[in-house]
Amino acid sequence: MSASQTPPATAVPGDDLPTLLVKIFGKDRPGITAGLFDTLAAYSVDVVDIEQMVTRGRITLCALVTAPSPAEGSSGTSEGDLRATVHSWAESLNLQAEIISGRGDNRPRGTGRSHVTVLGHPLTAETAAAIAAAITATGGNIDRIFRLAKYPVTAVEFAVSGAATEALRSVLAPEAARLGVDVAVVAAGLQRRAQRLVVMDVDSTLIQDEVIELFAAHAGCEAEVAEVTAAAMRGELDFEQSLHARVELLGGLDASVVEAVRKEVRLTPGARTLVRTLKRLGYQVGVVSGGFTQVTDALQEELGLDFASANTLEIVDGKLTGRVTGDIVDRAGKARLLREFAQQAGVPLAQTVAIGDGANDLDMLNTAGLGVAFNAKPVVREAAHTAVNVPFLDTVLYLLGITREEVEAADTLVG
Ligand SMILES: [Mg+2]
Repeated sequence: MSASQTPPATAVPGDDLPTLLVKIFGKDRPGITAGLFDTLAAYSVDVVDIEQMVTRGRITLCALVTAPSPAEGSSGTSEGDLRATVHSWAESLNLQAEIISGRGDNRPRGTGRSHVTVLGHPLTAETAAAIAAAITATGGNIDRIFRLAKYPVTAVEFAVSGAATEALRSVLAPEAARLGVDVAVVAAGLQRRAQRLVVMDVDSTLIQDEVIELFAAHAGCEAEVAEVTAAAMRGELDFEQSLHARVELLGGLDASVVEAVRKEVRLTPGARTLVRTLKRLGYQVGVVSGGFTQVTDALQEELGLDFASANTLEIVDGKLTGRVTGDIVDRAGKARLLREFAQQAGVPLAQTVAIGDGANDLDMLNTAGLGVAFNAKPVVREAAHTAVNVPFLDTVLYLLGITREEVEAADTLVG
């Protein structure tokens, strides 16, 4: 565009249009933003971009505006006047101002956009340095960083462009393991906001216990069952065979044990917050379990879950028979149920999230749009899209880009 042409009505300058970056830094107080733009308004400039943030009471305000046209009949330039006026306004408020001349808008962001979420407990400077360096090593550019949460972990999100999501994952996963922090890399875009179904495993995911071990304690065969469970979760045993073997050990138990076990179940910290927040956001939430409907039905009722599926312990004449009835929910069954729930919910698989800890969750985690290994065994952690290794289930919200402030604001609203 030549200088003689009329500037466009929209404030999107061509690369050759002079622009000014006005940066203000200092103690935050009411009226700074209004004051800056009031000052700029006298020069009839257009706003191209604004970024503002406040960190511990200090404001950083950046305004990218079109450069003012030289004043008619004036010996000086309007830009010179603008600079003097902004500096004088800033000094009167004890703020630092910097004005940088340039041309055009921000340079376009590179293709390939991702969100890199880091969960630290605590988040050390060493970690921040290593994550930033790893992002740079992939050719990615960090466009923005902000804090999602300070409780129960410090969660920060890096908006990254210029690198493929898979490439970022492959570089950041070993760094995260080395640093002992959780790093999730998800593709940016509408798909992330459209995630609408979350399906969780139950034992050692939604709840802290392995339900069959609670039953086993009542049957006096806890150690025997625990050993079979551990081997199955490590992927060393066929899940269905191990299920039948363990349930057989419960044969003859009085059915009243079911109620006792329900009372013993301990939800994972953050489980209620996760489910409540997801429901308020309009997500559908379900559970699939290699455990038992005798427990998952109660959880479904208590938490208001949309879907639940598990194995059913057979009870005859007030006693556990040592058998299960119906189709077995195993590794393949969990993935099949995720597909069924997604279909019933009307949500494409790409917009589903699955959370689990065991080898029998792997098919489900890899079928979902986002699979989260939650305090999982190494075999699961290594195969899943992302891993959370802090013992708080609500941290999954941060991977979805939901901030702690939003969680707490929703709680305040609803009461
Ligand atoms: Mg589990």
